[in-house]
Amino acid sequence: MPTPATTDVLRTPYQKSISEYWDAERDPVNIRLGEVDGLFHHHYGIGEPDLSVLEGPAETREERIIAELHRLESAQAELLLDHLGDVGPEDRLLDAGCGRGGTSFMANRRFGCDVDGVSISQQQVDFANNQAAERDLSGKVRFHFRNMLDTGLPTGGLRGSWNNESTMYVDLFELFAEHSRMLKVGGRYVCVTGCYNDLTGGRSKAVIQIDERYTCNVHARSEYFKAMAANRLTPITVLDLTAATIPYWELRAQSSVASGVEDAFLTAYRENSFHYLLIAADRI
Ligand code: SAH
Repeated sequence: MPTPATTDVLRTPYQKSISEYWDAERDPVNIRLGEVDGLFHHHYGIGEPDLSVLEGPAETREERIIAELHRLESAQAELLLDHLGDVGPEDRLLDAGCGRGGTSFMANRRFGCDVDGVSISQQQVDFANNQAAERDLSGKVRFHFRNMLDTGLPTGGLRGSWNNESTMYVDLFELFAEHSRMLKVGGRYVCVTGCYNDLTGGRSKAVIQIDERYTCNVHARSEYFKAMAANRLTPITVLDLTAATIPYWELRAQSSVASGVEDAFLTAYRENSFHYLLIAADRI
C-alpha cells in the first residue's frame, strides 16, 4: 500500500500526540521483555506466574522475572489468537494498533497466513518491518503507517482482525465500522482490552490515573457491545480475564521494569472498577 501523507494519517492533535508518544517510547518493560525471544509486546500478561523466579541467585533474579513476565504477555496473545476461529494459510488478518508487531508475528507463525499491521507510530512500523525482513517474512507480514479508523485496506478481504490493547485510543463506533467494512461476512473480530465497570458509575480515580498515564480514554464495558451491535459485529465469546491478569501485575510491581502504573491497575482491578476483557465477535 502507498504511504499516505502524515496529515492524512494523523488527523487530530490527539492522534498526533499519541503518535509522538509511541515514536519516543523506549520503556524497559517493553524493550527488555521483547529481547527475550524477539517478540515485542506492548500489552499485559495473563495466567499463573511461576513465583520461584523470585527465589534463587540474586544476580539473575531480574532476568528470571523478565522472562516470566514475557511468557505471560505471550500467553495473552496466544489466547487472543485462539479466538480467531479457523484461519488458513490463504487467509488475511489485520492487527489494528500493532505496536512493534509481536502478536502479528505470532499469528503468522500459527496460521501461516498474511498479516497486515497498522500503527500511527512510524517508529513502530519501521521496527516491525525490520523484524519481518530479518525473518524473511517481508512479503507475508507487513506493517503500515496508517490510522486504524481508515486503513486503506480493501473491503471484505479479511478472515480476521483484532485490537490487542489499542481500542482505548479511538471512538469505538468509528473503529468497529472500519473493522466491519474490512471483514468478510463470517469473519471474526477479537479484542483484548481494559474497560471500566459501568456499574460503579463513571471512571474511578484509579481508571483516571491509567488514562492519564497513557493519554488514552478507557471505555465503559457497555460501550463495546453497543458499538459492535451498531456495526454488524455479534459477540460469540466474552471472557473476563481480570482475575487472570492480577498475578501478572503483582509480579511486575516487584520487578525492576515496574513503570509506576502498577498500583493504579491493581487498585482498579481489585476494587472492581475496571475489567480486563476478551471479546470475540462474528461479522454478520
Ligand atoms: N497491539 C500491540 C500494541 C498495543 S499499544 C501489542 O499488543 O503489542 C497501542 C498501539 O495502538 C500503538 O501501537 C499505537 O500506535 C496504536 N494506535 C493508537 N491509536 C491508533 C490509531 N488511531 N490508528 C492506528 N494505531 C493506533
